[in-house]
Amino acid sequence: MYIIIGAGAALVALICIMLIRALMFTPKDNKEVEPSDIKLESDKIAQHLSGAIKIKTVSNPDADKTDWKEFEKFREYLIKTYPRIHEKMEREVISEHSLIYKWKGKDAAKAPIALLSHMDVVPVMPGTEVDWDQKAFSGHVDDEYVWGRGTQDMKGHLIALCEAVEQLIGQKYVPECDIYLCFGHNEEVVGSVGGGAKAIAETLEKRGIRLGMVIDEGGAVVPGSMFSLDGSDLAVIGIAEKGYADIKLTCRKKGGHSSQPPKDNGIVDLSKILVKLDKRQMKQRFTYAVKNLFDCTGRYMNFGMRLMLSNLWITKPLVLKALANSPTTNALTRTTIVPTMAEGSPAGNVLPQTANVSINSRVLHGQKIKDVEDYIKKCAKGIDIEMELLRGKEPSKVSTIDCEEFEIVKKTVKQIHGNMPVTPYLMVGGTDSCFYENICEKIFRVGPFKMTTEALGSIHGTNEKIAIETLKNGVRFYIQLIYNYCSK
Ligand SMILES: [Zn+2]
Repeated sequence: MYIIIGAGAALVALICIMLIRALMFTPKDNKEVEPSDIKLESDKIAQHLSGAIKIKTVSNPDADKTDWKEFEKFREYLIKTYPRIHEKMEREVISEHSLIYKWKGKDAAKAPIALLSHMDVVPVMPGTEVDWDQKAFSGHVDDEYVWGRGTQDMKGHLIALCEAVEQLIGQKYVPECDIYLCFGHNEEVVGSVGGGAKAIAETLEKRGIRLGMVIDEGGAVVPGSMFSLDGSDLAVIGIAEKGYADIKLTCRKKGGHSSQPPKDNGIVDLSKILVKLDKRQMKQRFTYAVKNLFDCTGRYMNFGMRLMLSNLWITKPLVLKALANSPTTNALTRTTIVPTMAEGSPAGNVLPQTANVSINSRVLHGQKIKDVEDYIKKCAKGIDIEMELLRGKEPSKVSTIDCEEFEIVKKTVKQIHGNMPVTPYLMVGGTDSCFYENICEKIFRVGPFKMTTEALGSIHGTNEKIAIETLKNGVRFYIQLIYNYCSK
């Protein structure tokens, strides 16, 4: 009897604790800020972006297949379009096609910042050209939008940044610290192993430069509904990015005629491994970035969600299970492993002598590529395969959010886009910014734009375009960010 009463009392106490925690799980940092009142001097931004889109800086994994003349043209275009930048800032071409601009500040003791962008764009998928309402490289401008490949990723950023600096120089503004504009030339094809951005960062490192903050693409202001926040926008700032690995598995067999197949078949063997990998995914975990993401967004969710997220000490298994149901949140909480390419014999009636499959993995913090390889080996136990790491990059370092720099970015977002929750998050894709890890601890991946669901869907896709109003706010964002970080 006493045991039942005791258990009942414990249960009531537990429920009370959970309810109290949920009730106290409210927004902790919803400081409101005054909106920025920056006026733009130039109304040519749409035309400037349009001109940039018309130059086909499409990068190709094979450097020999890249039209480098277009990149040359793009560099010339920047010189022509932004005369003040080219008069005031030191410009260097790195690794043949990447660019560093340096704007000298007043105080050499204050840590400089780097504002990043990449000049290359992805190609238009062959066969989809006709699906575009305006041609992909037309740079068409109408009353509302600038159209074309790169408007969102990421010539829009680059042009907004240049407009911002051009305006500031015109107003005789001098930053306290040095400001670097760093534009890579091959992010879209070598993002995971390094290229222009790596060369830029190494150049700065050799000169002994340590950056106080790096800002690159990644997060943005997005509809809150993407993270179960209804009726509000949400700003997400990437503080880390997952690792990357392409791993090739090869199975060698005798081959022969398919009319009398033996039991031993390379494709079947590889399939067995793939089925195991698919069924037994690597274990889910909460990392610093994701814990903080839910600690911020969870406070704005409905009571049921707050009850779960404020009591992870007891609800964690349930929450993780729920997160595994969506590809987005699944990717945030585990190292993913997925087959992407496969090859067998060259003909329908020939048994494969070699069969291979490429596996792509995005590695969560706390694990390394070696762990993925070990995991695959475990799933391949008893099957004779060769394994080759085609390319890979370990997970990035994680930028802390307990610092003045993060607060500056947060404030800037609110000043430009309005008061809203601003949260750190984990990027599942890659950016150039991780190559700056040796020279900077505070790397924040956040674009200057407010993105609609439609805009997000057009990145690397059909009908990529950007609203002119969005673009103008992007210029204001960079100006405000420079004011916030680089003024006294
Ligand atoms: Zn990009």
